[in-house]
Amino acid sequence: MALVNIHYLNLQNNYLFADVAKKVNAFKVIHPKADVISLGIGDVTQPLAPAVVEAMHKAADEMATAEGFRGYGPEQGYTFLREAILKNDFLPRGIHLDIDEVFINDGAKSDTGNFQELLHWDNFIGVTDPIYPVYIDSNVMIGRCGTYHDGRWTNVRYMPITAENGFVPPLPVGHPVDVIYLCYPNNPTGTVITKQELRKWVNYALKNDALILFDAAYQAYIRDKDIPHSIYEIRGARKCAIEFHSYSKTAGFTGVRCGYTIVPKDVTVSTFEGERLPLNQLWLRRQCTKFNGTSYISQRAAEATYTPEGKQQIQTTIDYYMDNAHRLLTRLRALGYEVYGGENAPYIWMRTPDGMGSWQFFEALLYGANVVCTPGVGFGPSGEGYVRFTAFSSHEKTEEALSRIENWTKQH
Ligand SMILES: *Cc1c(COP(=O)(O)O)cnc(C)c1O
Repeated sequence: MALVNIHYLNLQNNYLFADVAKKVNAFKVIHPKADVISLGIGDVTQPLAPAVVEAMHKAADEMATAEGFRGYGPEQGYTFLREAILKNDFLPRGIHLDIDEVFINDGAKSDTGNFQELLHWDNFIGVTDPIYPVYIDSNVMIGRCGTYHDGRWTNVRYMPITAENGFVPPLPVGHPVDVIYLCYPNNPTGTVITKQELRKWVNYALKNDALILFDAAYQAYIRDKDIPHSIYEIRGARKCAIEFHSYSKTAGFTGVRCGYTIVPKDVTVSTFEGERLPLNQLWLRRQCTKFNGTSYISQRAAEATYTPEGKQQIQTTIDYYMDNAHRLLTRLRALGYEVYGGENAPYIWMRTPDGMGSWQFFEALLYGANVVCTPGVGFGPSGEGYVRFTAFSSHEKTEEALSRIENWTKQH
């Protein structure tokens, strides 16, 4: 008899964006003529950079010849891309990594979800709240989170990041946390962490023998000079942190699929007997068994983001989105809304007015202004009373959404 993995039955039934889509569809059935603008799901909209497209064409042409054809590539990724990563993303920040510490992936979602399988099932995990849902759900699937009550998992430590604490994540108090998920710049709040604050986390991890899983998917959106782009800018981090990167938001690769994970050789975990094992070797073993590499064409595409033209072109698109973020931030603020983020990240985090619930405001905005946002509570209990707007739309749609929100707000 094939038995189900019962932990899957613990998953909360709906994925946030499926719930949002359902409600939007219900609205469209009643209002078939309405033109709904979505500032909801975090997907990019602008086309790929010409340098990237050219590299993909070239790679495809190579594959069409006997000499240029490539079959299975190395599971860790091609050397040309791993070298480009070291040279462009780390060396300029004074971070010296070995090429064996870079693992190319097919996007950061896979690795942020999969990495936890190297860790014993009863490690105690800590997350900032609100948070990217993948971190918790992937731990639920392996039975690490306990049971779900009142919007919380019993075996997860939630560290609230809210307006009340200025979105500065508080270190865990009480029973130490073994594995910590941090995402900065943050999805969903669009807020950032300073070097000084991040140093506290690295020191906590070193002191408590904890592991930090650091998601840097939005590092390319950082504008302030002092905000760290990588956790390895902090001394000691290469002993306790894994870092995830993605070309999805950096270069519009949500459909192309490519990213990478840094697993420094100095990061070790313990057996019950106290023997230390390097995660780098375990992750290599895991990848060689379960992953057959990212496509050659995608890796050539990623490499092209580091050419002078590629760099400039992807920066233009990032600036385009950040211009949307700026418009959202300033105009929502001018309307009297309490808004956060949006300065070093493509997300705006807005407190709902008059203490409205996240879903209540979501529906009011959908029916009143035909604009879709994402209810903050979908990202965790401390997201209640907030909604998220993305800057990933076009200028035209962002402007139109803002005019509608303005009219709608002034009617109230
Ligand atoms: C979009 C996003 C990613 C990237 O996912 P990909 O699989 O690389 O497309 C990773 N982490 C966070 C927090 C994200 O929002």
